[in-house]
Amino acid sequence: MTNLPLQTTWFLPRGELSRLIETLRADGYEVVGPTVDQGAIVYSEIRSTDDLPKGWTETQGPGQYRLERRTDDAYFGFTVGPHSWKKYLFPPLVTVSTAERTPDGWSISDGKNDPPKYAFLGVRACELAAIAVQDRTFLHGPYVDPVYKARRDQAFIIAVNCTQAASTCFCTSMGTGPRCTRGFDLALTELPAGFLVEVGSPAGEALAARLPLVEAAEDHTREAEARRQNAVDQIQRRMDTTGIRDLLLQNLEHPRWSDVAQRCLSCTNCTMVCPTCFCHSVRDVSDLTGDQARRERQWDSCFNLDFSYMNGGPVRNDVRSRYRQWLTHKLASWFDQFDVSGCVGCGRCITWCPVGIDLTEEVAAIRSSDGLQRPPVSPAAT
Ligand code: SF4
Ligand code: SF4
Repeated sequence: MTNLPLQTTWFLPRGELSRLIETLRADGYEVVGPTVDQGAIVYSEIRSTDDLPKGWTETQGPGQYRLERRTDDAYFGFTVGPHSWKKYLFPPLVTVSTAERTPDGWSISDGKNDPPKYAFLGVRACELAAIAVQDRTFLHGPYVDPVYKARRDQAFIIAVNCTQAASTCFCTSMGTGPRCTRGFDLALTELPAGFLVEVGSPAGEALAARLPLVEAAEDHTREAEARRQNAVDQIQRRMDTTGIRDLLLQNLEHPRWSDVAQRCLSCTNCTMVCPTCFCHSVRDVSDLTGDQARRERQWDSCFNLDFSYMNGGPVRNDVRSRYRQWLTHKLASWFDQFDVSGCVGCGRCITWCPVGIDLTEEVAAIRSSDGLQRPPVSPAAT
């Protein structure tokens, strides 16, 4: 099959999913996708369909995650786990430069930045949105991050539409899902007999032309639509985002911040699992001889006391101010910086918070007794 028109839907028989993985691998991609490890569905290298979480699903709630067996053999019958694609595009630890003592002085070089060509298999709608949010930070601002760019430029994205939702999902409130509409090369919707395939880019079109696709029948299209609607119907959690920036910035002294500080452990879990959080720190490390040194960048978190250290002490020295910083950045000042929300409604921070703090509940509590009489806060004041 050649010359596939963009946006046409196709059907890939279930037994041919392996061809998709094989074709990508033959093209030099490292295929990364969902797999079961340590009691969760996480992202790792996928060499064949045997590595996928066939027949597994999960239940999630505030501070809760459990793997469960499905009654069928679905490959993608779950939602999102603790990993996100940021671990590949914005790695947790990278060496940004190295220094070596030579007879003529120090020789400095950039860190190695030749990542594998990644093909991401199983990217959900909220995750496509999260990648777009990080693109704004790392690619479309005044500074382009070379580590992110090298990975992002060559990434091939195979999205998967959700056909079910977790109790922690609220992508419908954030306008990010559950339907994959943009930002992918190919998008799949899983059906019992195979996959409805949508083409989203010329690269996706070129790959699709090498797969054993047939034109999707009306039954396939109808069944896919019903399954996608099932995900929409299952989403119960909501966040009212009306005027959310001003709501939060007008309520910086709301008593709810002290309330949540009583429960928050400042453990950083929410920021580690969040697909859009990008805070990091830089440190210099040398060997014992002092002849070699390297500069490393690693994920950091606004929940760490030292993260706000400056001029002899931390600026945010209590949990109240650190939680407030996180939430107001995500949902308010992110708009001033990047013209978009920093939250895509994936629900990870709710599930992986050890004490089950739920940002939708915190926002609702502030909204129920907010300071609406106060004037809007200008970007300069934040
Ligand atoms: S703040 Fe929470 S729900 Fe929003 S994108 Fe981050 S992890 Fe997901
Ligand atoms: S909100 Fe939860 S996950 Fe985030 S720092 Fe506090 S205790 Fe940890």
